[in-house]
Amino acid sequence: SEKDAALAAAAAPVPSDSPTIFDKIINKEIPSNVVYEDDKVLAFRDINPQAPTHIVIIPKVKDGLSGLSKAEERHCEILGRLMYTAKLVAKQEGLDDGFRIVINDGPNGCMFALCSCHDSFEERELWLSAKRVKDHHRETYCAIVMLSGSFVGQSVYHIHVHLLGGRQMNWPPG
Ligand code: C5P
Repeated sequence: SEKDAALAAAAAPVPSDSPTIFDKIINKEIPSNVVYEDDKVLAFRDINPQAPTHIVIIPKVKDGLSGLSKAEERHCEILGRLMYTAKLVAKQEGLDDGFRIVINDGPNGCMFALCSCHDSFEERELWLSAKRVKDHHRETYCAIVMLSGSFVGQSVYHIHVHLLGGRQMNWPPG
């Protein structure tokens, strides 16, 4: 059945270069609210903002960087570029009283709440029922997390820096 096929797909390992929803944003196949763009990086407003200003900053070329835990020496330049872009965008957004940057990594890194941003999987109920799939490094699993609103892990396996501001941030972040 369709459900079995989805479960089988969710259990399969995914290479760190697998496309994610962010490729569609980079290629303008799905709309996003871009606030900064150059040849290396793209910054757009998070569709499920956790602060008055919440921007996601991503490299245009993923180069195996599904998350920070996959970083190699060759990524130092782009990692620095992401940080520097956070500073530029913070300035552009007028976050003069301060801001926070966050990089979630893997199943334990998390700041996700319910959102409806997953356009590439139509059968919401199907994914909800597949919630117990074990392989966390699966975009489909992440779709389940996103759709179900569970607070579990990194949800898009294309490295990204969250820039949050416009309110007092809490510590510990939770
Ligand atoms: O760190 P994490 O992987 O959980 O964050 C992914 C972020 O990307 C979420 O904050 C989510 O709201 C955002 N997102 C988005 N637009 C999409 C898909 C996800 O802004 N189309």
